[in-house]
Amino acid sequence: MTGVEEVRVAPVALHRLEPLLTPERVERLEAYVATARDLLASRTVWNVNSTARGGGVAEMLHTLVAYAAGTGVDVRWLVVGGDADFFAVTKRLHNRLHGVPGDAGALDAAARATYDATLVRQRADVLARVEPGDVVLLHDPQTAGLARDLRDRGAFVVWRCHVGLDEHDAWTREAWGFLRELVEPAHACIFSRESFAPDWVDRRWLRVIPPSLDPFSPKNSDLDEREVARLVHRDGLVVEGRPLPTAGPVVLQVSRWDRLKDMAGVLDAFADHLDELPPDAHLVLAGPETTGVADDPEAAEVLAECRERWRSLPAAARARSHLVSVPMDDLDENARTVNALQRWSTVVVQKSLAEGFGLTVTEPMWKARPVIASAVGGIRDQVEDGVSGVLLGDPRDGAALAAAVSSLLDDPDRREAMGRAAHQRVRDHYLADRHLIQYVELFAQLVGEG
Ligand code: UDP
Repeated sequence: MTGVEEVRVAPVALHRLEPLLTPERVERLEAYVATARDLLASRTVWNVNSTARGGGVAEMLHTLVAYAAGTGVDVRWLVVGGDADFFAVTKRLHNRLHGVPGDAGALDAAARATYDATLVRQRADVLARVEPGDVVLLHDPQTAGLARDLRDRGAFVVWRCHVGLDEHDAWTREAWGFLRELVEPAHACIFSRESFAPDWVDRRWLRVIPPSLDPFSPKNSDLDEREVARLVHRDGLVVEGRPLPTAGPVVLQVSRWDRLKDMAGVLDAFADHLDELPPDAHLVLAGPETTGVADDPEAAEVLAECRERWRSLPAAARARSHLVSVPMDDLDENARTVNALQRWSTVVVQKSLAEGFGLTVTEPMWKARPVIASAVGGIRDQVEDGVSGVLLGDPRDGAALAAAVSSLLDDPDRREAMGRAAHQRVRDHYLADRHLIQYVELFAQLVGEG
């Protein structure tokens, strides 16, 4: 897809959340909804990103747009497409914002020309829809290049960055050097953590807003055991390994096929320390079908690398590890399958080398699964080490990962306590009411200052 497409999302009433909130939270939310209705009565709030499916941003937009629309606010979602060259440049930006080169390409004038060439095609289409006074949320590097024109059009422009590295290095500085000129025209910026923001971002207009999840979406809603079993054991999911086990503890990582998620590192840690784990423990690595995520050009390559790695393992490790590719043709079914895998697993790991936030941590936490995850980026905000999960200080330390897995698999009481604390943590901090309130606060300030 190379044009602009609108994603239609059916409104969902915010009341649905109320049973999960304290009366104080319900009251606060109602007050903000009233403010939003006044403030946005004659405006549209636009979200613009580069994929309707796969990955955390699309996941979050599906639910937030639905809830926002449910309040009566006119909220829309546009997806700007691009060609392979455009996504090669934006993936390079994505990688370098996480401190790794990604590929050998440069972020030079030629890369900028490639980036601009795609956005020039989208610009007119986006501008034709947006009215002066509207609020536009541009998500991630893929859409930053629209900020200046939208501002000139008279819109309030917010650039939201979902990625980042806690400590800046030469790679992040290169990426930020590319993005600075594109981002600066935005009226405000949102980051998932403050440390991700480069120092030239105007602190008065920087907001820290972490993502949230929806407990009622197909990704997170309750599933009974039979449904879990049906989804997990249906044909066609496993691309390497035997059919998924029907007994014994399961260690799961769910991620896009992105090197920064280090699926291969999880596989190595499992295989290298197989003897330290219970003899009936299995590892499942699950990611989306690689043709399914439009703005992620490296996925097929990364999955192929993992398959190669799996094939080179000793037979004992191969017998107990499984690579799963979850079909993307039916998004609800994809979400329910991930949901089922998370509920079915004994321990969930997220061995990311860098992570903007990590909904794949939030989701199992909501399901009261004990999570073992790298102490990087937004994961550090979600998991309180030893309480609502386990944090690994060195994301590359496979031995430490295996030791943490082994210790949790041996201790059902600790797993249960951790799962309970994890669920409560998500309930307290990562539901849509907090998220929408933070948006309304920002919009009120933006519109208030004209
Ligand atoms: N996801 C999915 N199907 C898959 C793999 C991942 O729906 O096969 C979802 C996952 O459940 C989560 C999102 O993709 O909601 C990933 O978001 P996260 O913030 O963890 O990382 P990102 O992919 O944005 O880097």
